[in-house]
Formats: sequence, C-alpha cells, structure tokens
Amino acid sequence: MRLKVLGAYGSSDAEHNLTGYLLDDWLAVDAGTLTSKLSFAQQARVQAVYITHSHADHIRDLPHLIHNRFSQNAPPLILYAARHVMDILCKNVFNGLVWPDFSTIASPQTGKPVVEYRALLPGRKTTFNGVGLTPVHVDHQIPAAGVIVEMNGQTITFTGDTGPTSEIWKRTNKFGNVVAVVTEASFPNDQQSLADETAHLSPNTFGEELKKIDADAPIYASHRKVPFERDIESQIRNLRDRRARVLLEKNYTL
Ligand SMILES: [Zn+2]
Ligand SMILES: [Zn+2]
Repeated sequence: MRLKVLGAYGSSDAEHNLTGYLLDDWLAVDAGTLTSKLSFAQQARVQAVYITHSHADHIRDLPHLIHNRFSQNAPPLILYAARHVMDILCKNVFNGLVWPDFSTIASPQTGKPVVEYRALLPGRKTTFNGVGLTPVHVDHQIPAAGVIVEMNGQTITFTGDTGPTSEIWKRTNKFGNVVAVVTEASFPNDQQSLADETAHLSPNTFGEELKKIDADAPIYASHRKVPFERDIESQIRNLRDRRARVLLEKNYTL
C-alpha cells in the first residue's frame, strides 16, 4: 500500500503540518492536514476518513474537506469514528454553530448529502471497499480510538494520540502481515511529566511501547512537537531498536 504522510507533527508552522495520512490516495486517517496539501481533484478521490479523536489538530481540515464536496461530482464522503468520538464531533463541531451538519444537505452536483457519518463500535471490524477497519481504544484523556487497517493483504496500525496503552498492541499482534505501525512521540524525555499528564508518549515511553509490539516492521513516531523535533529524533535513534523510526512528511511504499 502507499502511505502519503501529509502531516506528521503535533504542532504546525510554515514547514510542519498537523496529523493527516492518506492510504492509496482514497482512505484518510485523521484530518489535521488534508485540504491544505491536496488539490480539489485529489480531495474528490478521498472516499473515507477515519478520525481517531476530536482534538483540533486531528480535525482541522475536516470541515473544509466536507464543504469542498459541494463543488465535486463525487460520492458522499464517509466519515468513520468510534461511537464516542463521533458523538463529540456531531455535538460540538457539526452542530450548525461551528459548522453546518452537511449530512442533511443535498449537493446540487449529485442530489445526495456530501457526507455520511458512520459510528463504529470499538473492537468490531467494518469493511469498506474491501478494506477492514477495526477501531481500538487507546489512552488519551478523551475518547480516542486508533485503527487497524487491513488493505490488500497488508495490515497497518495507527494509534493516533496516546499515552502508554495495551489493547491496540494485543490486537495488532494477532496479524502476521503488519507492514508498519504509526504511533507517536510528542515530547522529549526531559518533559516526561508533561507527556504523562497530557496522555502522550516521549521517546522513553515510545521505547516501552515497542516492547509490546511483536511485528518486525517499522514503528513510526509521529506527532512530534516542532520545537523539540531534533531532541525527539536523536532520542528515538538512541533507543537502538532498528524498528524505531521518526515519521517524515513524504510518500512511503509499504
Ligand atoms: Zn494531537
Ligand atoms: Zn490529542
């Protein structure tokens, strides 16, 4: 599968972008960065978006991706999230105040609404276009669920933001065809207490999570806070685990 990393950071500036990933050009995971890095034509090819949690850095471009659909002759965008996450989005974002509820407004292009919400039960696999999506609870202060994606005979796990966790590793370890894991290392080791308080990982705790993962595949640290990028990268290297990598904003073929 092809993984296009549109945003690999937990903060943003002119050269670093918020969390957003695209698989095979049509399935997005998180939406911190989508519209800001994709042409209108590329946006129209996005068929589904899975949102790990409702923090602004993971949904920034989502309202615009949905809105842009009105000028595109494309099927409704399928928005997936675990049930509790979807509740938060509908109540607090797509509520007619922050942004309209576009699931109720038909597009003049297609006669259909431009978005469909599909709330998922954590632990239960759903299939879309032959691709399996299993949301799995992670530990991040607010309702949050990573996702295990089974695509073309390969499996990739995205945790989204999380502190130390376990369920998603147990489930990932059941697959023999894991090609990559994308998790996070937000803060450097000298800010461990802030990482713990905000339910994020540092390179140290990222290293502890690595021990829980069986797959012999790259384990990527995403969501680095930009000012500490250099420290985090060298601390990840110092783990001396050949699977440990930092995630870059580029295209990967897995
Ligand atoms: Zn975040
Ligand atoms: Zn978060």
